[in-house]
Amino acid sequence: MTSTIPNLHLGEQSAELMRPGASRETAARSTNLVGEVFPRVDFYAIDELLSDEERAIRDKVRDFVDREVIPIIGPYWERAEFPWELVPKIAELGIVGGALRGYGCPGLSPLADGLIAAELARGDASVSTWIGVHSGLAMGSIYVGGNEEQKRHWLPQMARMEKLGAFGLTEPLRGSDASHIETTARRDGNSYVLNGAKRWIGLGHLADVVVVWARDLDNDGKVAGFLVEKGTPGVEAHLMAGKMALRSLGNADLTFTDARIPAENRLGNTNSFRETAIVLTMTRYGVACAALGNAMACYEATLAYATRREQFGKPIAGHQLIQQKLVWMLNEITAMQLICWRLGTLMAQGKMTAEQASLAKLNHSTKARKIAAEARDIMGGNGILLDNLVIRHFNDAEAIYSYEGTAEVQTLVVGRKITGIQAFA
Ligand SMILES: Cc1cc2nc3c(=O)[nH]c(=O)nc-3n(C[C@H](O)[C@H](O)[C@H](O)COP(=O)(O)OP(=O)(O)OC[C@H]3O[C@@H](n4cnc5c(N)ncnc54)[C@H](O)[C@@H]3O)c2cc1C
Repeated sequence: MTSTIPNLHLGEQSAELMRPGASRETAARSTNLVGEVFPRVDFYAIDELLSDEERAIRDKVRDFVDREVIPIIGPYWERAEFPWELVPKIAELGIVGGALRGYGCPGLSPLADGLIAAELARGDASVSTWIGVHSGLAMGSIYVGGNEEQKRHWLPQMARMEKLGAFGLTEPLRGSDASHIETTARRDGNSYVLNGAKRWIGLGHLADVVVVWARDLDNDGKVAGFLVEKGTPGVEAHLMAGKMALRSLGNADLTFTDARIPAENRLGNTNSFRETAIVLTMTRYGVACAALGNAMACYEATLAYATRREQFGKPIAGHQLIQQKLVWMLNEITAMQLICWRLGTLMAQGKMTAEQASLAKLNHSTKARKIAAEARDIMGGNGILLDNLVIRHFNDAEAIYSYEGTAEVQTLVVGRKITGIQAFA
């Protein structure tokens, strides 16, 4: 990083800024916010709506993010390097597998799972995304679509993060219309033979197992999931270069050329795109929560900055136009928090619909993107320095806005529900 300000240890930096008599010059130059712990945004006391258990797990992850993620993640993001050092530490938290029950998974409430996604994203959206890919998409696919043997084999070791999972749905020519994927699987003796290509696969080049969605030619070409293990001959993975969001999470292009996998690696209970859609509905709730965390990070850092940075003889937070922006951010974040709480509650009751998850993903990813832009603006030039946190969230908000269904796709899902007319094609 190119900061002229030394990257001080959390305690030292905060102590210096808060020291009575600290010079105004010191405060003005000390724009390195890495490692500062900001007051939490909870304007409507939503904390009181959480159970003790939910609050405890949220606090544990929050503390972990403050201590272990935020202080180290900027350089990983800048170098576009996966932070392997976090894998065993996150495994130790006992949160992987989230709301999945049995098979060594923690069986948390969906609300707790959403709070975890928000906290991880408050630290870094690459981290929340690879946990979402591994724990939500890959493990979720095995949980929803796997037979008993597949669940017993894969889920416990994935919950311990001894094996990393990825989720391969999107193709070079099939993004929003992923229900029309073209990758095929054909049965040949005790194997399936896969041909086709996948794009944008998070962890695709690192994962021990990728859940690949393909057309099963022996089942009328219906979509099914296939577990493709690392090192399978005929599978090539290439890291996509030049990605300017979620930089510490690699995304890969995968190709399958007569790639032969054991027949028992076909997910036993997947017989249509319906199972894929069930997994995506579950994870869209998690993405909405991650977008909330992304927005909270921007607001909390910006509020602290605006009360400290002086222009025209007073803190910029004392100017009406800045207050208007901060209050708008707070308003949107409070609404997002309430929506996440309600969705988590509905999910726990088994009542959350796909359209409700889509509306939340649409709202939260749209608002997070705008909140990050306002935060970046309030920080002026300092807003584009990695040391001030917001630019990383600003870039990452762009990816969250597009993945797991763009704003247009979520709109069409909800539009179909309220009008009864599908307008996708
Ligand atoms: C960082 C990142 C990580 C990802 N990780 C994964 C992963 O791990 N696994 C995986 O399988 N996929 C992954 N994806 C893929 C992601 O889900 C797709 O990018 C997303 O679904 C959109 O597809 P697309 O990028 O091909 O855009 P396109 O489908 O080409 O869309 C381009 C534009 O056209 C609009 N559009 C498309 N159809 C319509 C329509 N009917 N009406 C109106 N507008 C329309 C879209 O909304 C968008 O604005 C990832 C993507 C990103 C960016």
